[in-house]
Amino acid sequence: MSYTQEIYQLVAAKNPHEPEFCQAVKEVLDSIEPAIAAKEQKYREVALLERLVEPERTVSFRVPWVDDNNVVHVNKGYRVQFSSVIGPFKGGLRFHPSVNQSILKFLGFEQIFKNSLTGQPIGGGKGGSDFDPKGKSDREVMTFCQSFMTELFKYIGADRDVPAGDIGVGGREIGYLYGQYKRLTGQYEGVLTGKGLTFGGSLVRMEATGFGLIYMLEELMNHRGEQLAGKCAVVSGSGNVAIYAAAKAEAKGMKVIAMSDSNGYVYDPQGIDINVIKEIKEVRRGRIKEYAAQIDRAEYVEGKSIWNLPCEIALPCATQNELTLSDMQALYTNGCRVVAEGANMPTTREATDYAISKGIVFMPGKAANAGGVATSALEMAQNSMRFNWTFKEVDERLQQIMASIYQKTADAAMRYGSPDNYVLGANIAGFEKIAEAMLAQGIC
Ligand code: NDP
Repeated sequence: MSYTQEIYQLVAAKNPHEPEFCQAVKEVLDSIEPAIAAKEQKYREVALLERLVEPERTVSFRVPWVDDNNVVHVNKGYRVQFSSVIGPFKGGLRFHPSVNQSILKFLGFEQIFKNSLTGQPIGGGKGGSDFDPKGKSDREVMTFCQSFMTELFKYIGADRDVPAGDIGVGGREIGYLYGQYKRLTGQYEGVLTGKGLTFGGSLVRMEATGFGLIYMLEELMNHRGEQLAGKCAVVSGSGNVAIYAAAKAEAKGMKVIAMSDSNGYVYDPQGIDINVIKEIKEVRRGRIKEYAAQIDRAEYVEGKSIWNLPCEIALPCATQNELTLSDMQALYTNGCRVVAEGANMPTTREATDYAISKGIVFMPGKAANAGGVATSALEMAQNSMRFNWTFKEVDERLQQIMASIYQKTADAAMRYGSPDNYVLGANIAGFEKIAEAMLAQGIC
């Protein structure tokens, strides 16, 4: 049995109730196998893979809070500090009822390789809570965030662990979390990213994951001699990543015909008006169906897969495992030839394997959505310098980083004889730097 297979069996046996974590580990181990083979003895001697799949630390805690009607609630809070081998732990906080240790471990594990790919000095981590901000008042969200930070602050710091946003955690939540951190520690430091522009945030951070996804897509298409302009795309989700991916796609001349939320999707044959979506989602915190109520030509469809719509490019930007094998088959049958993941692990393993076998160009989230964390690292750099770059400066850096991630991914795929397999390329390119740093730092 190969070293990677042994390690997968170990992970599956030790974490039987963590399917998402096991899924993420399997994908990485399977694709780094050729890179391991050459150095297997060296890696085995220091139990490199055994250490790589075990978080350095996981903290879980209770988060009690009181709602507007004086009812006391208790949620679970977590921080998974997966790897600090190339920098302080870095990764978002997710507030969603589905949050559990398995989901945060999968996200934290993926984050290690993604952060490595950015070329910046950031380790991997993730955290969050099963709290649902949907339908809560601002006061309730603030109360929850203050209670969450009252425990979390013991484990984080600008040079230790720097959380950011993710599903359910946007500018409002980061503001409340930051205020409480400052109150508890008396420190005005870059302990969180995605902060407001008036208190240490970076220009472009809000747009970065979605913009970065389209910069990656453009890079990918250009290398294949194709243009983005005129291409028809479907974007799932209508949160931070989806909105700025759709906005940049349209700015590049693409037509985004559908977007969704967890209830359904809207189809607009003339192209989604992204300003209307922004108004509904960012200002009113409403539902996607309101788009169809407002725009006559649009249609709202509930309970059906957005991936049945014919398109040339699919951009899953909502959540994990949202694009299944049957969805990928429908996309292929309807002419889709490019899939780039804005979300983390939105495509199931079977769907990914099918896409690659059919020659669909498939760019995994680790590479495609790394623009968010890369810009978070730029925010950290600006905070350390006590200085702000302009929008243009940050945006140019983001574009360079996405181009370099594409190059590293494509080069690694080429080196290992699978030039079109970007899953393999991204995992190997991310892993090589981590492995080198782990070897250099000894058994720790
Ligand atoms: P948001 O909370 O801003 O938006 C999430 C969107 O996905 C919402 O439209 C939400 O709909 C939808 N969604 C959530 N769960 C489901 C579900 N089970 N089925 C269908 N739709 C669902 O989150 P982000 O945009 O920040 O994150 C989206 C994805 O991108 C996540 O996988 C995240 O980990 C990843 N990501 C985010 C980064 C960032 O910078 N924000 C960076 C890199 C990756 P509803 O409102 O109905 O719940």
